[in-house]
Amino acid sequence: MSDKETLSFDDPMQRPRFTGLATFFRASYREDFEADPPAIGVCGVPYDGGVTNRPGPRHGPREVRNQSSMVRRINQATGINPFDTATVADIGDAWIRKPYEIVGAHSEIEEFFTRAHGAGIRTLTCGGDHSVSLPILRAIAKDRPLGMIHIDAHCDTGDNYGGSRFHHGAPFKVAVDEGLLDPKRVVQIGIRGSLYQSDMWKFSFDSGMRVMMIEEVEERGWRACIDEAREIVGDAPIYVSFDIDSLDPAYAPGTGTPEAGGLTMREAQGMVRRLEGLDIAGSDMVEVSPPFDVGGITALNGATIMYELLCVMAGRG
Ligand code: MN
Ligand code: MN
Repeated sequence: MSDKETLSFDDPMQRPRFTGLATFFRASYREDFEADPPAIGVCGVPYDGGVTNRPGPRHGPREVRNQSSMVRRINQATGINPFDTATVADIGDAWIRKPYEIVGAHSEIEEFFTRAHGAGIRTLTCGGDHSVSLPILRAIAKDRPLGMIHIDAHCDTGDNYGGSRFHHGAPFKVAVDEGLLDPKRVVQIGIRGSLYQSDMWKFSFDSGMRVMMIEEVEERGWRACIDEAREIVGDAPIYVSFDIDSLDPAYAPGTGTPEAGGLTMREAQGMVRRLEGLDIAGSDMVEVSPPFDVGGITALNGATIMYELLCVMAGRG
């Protein structure tokens, strides 16, 4: 057996899934990705300097890598095998040298994604808190604003909080201000929770984003909501951002700002699967906080959502 075979774990029937070092989906680990760039690079951003309440998502990538070894290759519902239709590698973590200085940390994260996308890699990212979506968008939406499908309990279009605009409750306002997102092609789904002010997410509405509260998802059903979202974003490139707190806390207790009354895991899987065929330039799953998790359930669900994202990004070849 060569070193490469030893690392790739390609055949779990030969090499049990509980053995070896954990990479995302047991894909080969390729930190030097420029030498042999995969079509899709799965990566981590172990950063939580933007949390406003309970911390911990800096530990997300390591734990989600661990739980992702539970995921097999073929999608039972859609028949897609993303490892057949695309080259997939774990391209490591955006390693941060200045974790206590948010603007500097964000520019290091941006640098990592500029390198990855410069090598022609589409990225699927595991956060980290939601503030990390901003530097990712800075790297991949430089040339033109993207649309976005954003599944979350929160709109994350707030403004200055505790003296900073760059916390995890504001990345998508800053992204619109910087011309990285076209708000008319942004759909936010699953929004709920108590508010500080009744117009806390005013920026989303004023800028023309389509906001679907959880009550609307309940009334119309998630399929109709995703179908409308697909029409709004159209055929042009989009970003997909999935905050694990969109799930009900029963499915995702391990997160910083849980909100009762959320999506079931089965709804969320169906929603992501229904994105098949859209032009996804990059995606993320954020806010898994292992210190608050129970029995690994949140990390497992996060890994499972990432797998569904991987399947729609890889497509049918
Ligand atoms: Mn959230
Ligand atoms: Mn969020």
